[in-house]
Amino acid sequence: MKNLIPKIGLEIHLELATQAKLFCSCKNDPDEPEPNKNICPVCTGQPGVLPVLNESAVIKALSLAKALKMKINQKSLFARKHYFYPDLPKNYQISQYELPLATDGEVILVRENLRKKIRIRRLHLEEDTAKNIHFQNYSLIDFNRSGVPLVEIVTEPDLNSPEEAEIFAEELVLLIRYLKISQADAEKGQIRFEANISLAEEDKLGVKVEVKNIGSIQSLKDAIAYEIERQKAVLEKGGVISQETRGFDEIKRITFSQREKEEAEDYRYFPDPDLPPLLVNEELENRAILTETPWDKKLRFEKEYKIEPKLSQILIRNQFLAHFFEEAFSELYRLTDDFEETKRLILNYMLNDLIGLLEKLKIELRETLLTPHEFAHLLFVFYQNKISSKIVKEALELSLKGEKRVEVIIQEKEKISDAEILNNLIEEILRENEKSVVDYKNGKKEAFEYLIGLIMKKTQGRADPQLTREILKDKLEQEI
Ligand SMILES: [Zn+2]
Repeated sequence: MKNLIPKIGLEIHLELATQAKLFCSCKNDPDEPEPNKNICPVCTGQPGVLPVLNESAVIKALSLAKALKMKINQKSLFARKHYFYPDLPKNYQISQYELPLATDGEVILVRENLRKKIRIRRLHLEEDTAKNIHFQNYSLIDFNRSGVPLVEIVTEPDLNSPEEAEIFAEELVLLIRYLKISQADAEKGQIRFEANISLAEEDKLGVKVEVKNIGSIQSLKDAIAYEIERQKAVLEKGGVISQETRGFDEIKRITFSQREKEEAEDYRYFPDPDLPPLLVNEELENRAILTETPWDKKLRFEKEYKIEPKLSQILIRNQFLAHFFEEAFSELYRLTDDFEETKRLILNYMLNDLIGLLEKLKIELRETLLTPHEFAHLLFVFYQNKISSKIVKEALELSLKGEKRVEVIIQEKEKISDAEILNNLIEEILRENEKSVVDYKNGKKEAFEYLIGLIMKKTQGRADPQLTREILKDKLEQEI
């Protein structure tokens, strides 16, 4: 048997976080516990109603298309996709077919030993269906989800392993969160996957099997891994793969046959006569958010800050963390004018202490009081040798817990290394302890350590030890 290569394409359905649904003003609230609360004649498919397109959904979809470097179609069409199912009251779903919103984009997979471009074939808008809830002898339908805006993203079959599919899905979710167009929470069904998997020798096309309704990235990876092994076993025994749609069993972690595909399903698509063509002019396109993709950010961090790939991967895992890193870096670099030291300090205290503490305290950085400016200042005081590493860690913990601001802690803990302050302080102590001064003059060296002890007590240990010793010595020598 020749070397069989898996070819995997993905279809991703993403619920957009808009205020209203796609074609009516009903609330789009995925957390609404009461069934059939956010509904109206439009999203329950009553006769004689007219859909009106929600512009905010278009802008969010455009943001994603732009980030994926897609070609935006200035004119796209809404089409009716006909099929009968209880969760679809109109008996058709409004989607985009022949002319989608955008085509030809890319996602770059960047890992230590991987640099690969995955082509995006198309991105379009469509409405979500209602939700069937099944009981033993009956089913109920909740129309709160009916008409919620979805984008569907379709890739070319450029992925070659379950791991690549996993990385792709992770990168896409990260990008979606960067863009703030959806939480992409798989547990809430806000992102759903389908995978097309075929096995063939290089340059040949295998028979495609479609696995539908995959609810999480882990399940996507497992479904693909299972399907590759299953198809391999069939082919190695001289069998043929039948073109079919399969489901994924979340409990047994296997795929199972749902229906054979004799012909491509006929949805009798045609342009929706109730909706005008969607025209995207420059003004609309400019309202889409522009953001750096996570993979571009990662590559830029590696180049600009000369960071190892393993570390840059941690820094870009959320946009706030990445932003915090850059702000703190630029502030500390400004203060120290020392690139290598800045990098060493920021990476050390961010990756080891800050992230570790956030995990320990189970909080997100953006929920805390700590600002990048404060973080940089704290590290700068440490860099100047005015506080110890222990104090840096304590200050971070107190600040993250919201108990004390960093500046207050620095004030309390900062070493006193101002010669004038120390001078006055030591003079005062000497006046109060004439006997020790006399002892010192008479050659009792313990008196020196006794006086140092008094100074430390008075300053709660904050007096710079070396400088204190120098000044005290000078003063005692002068007295002689
Ligand atoms: Zn409605």
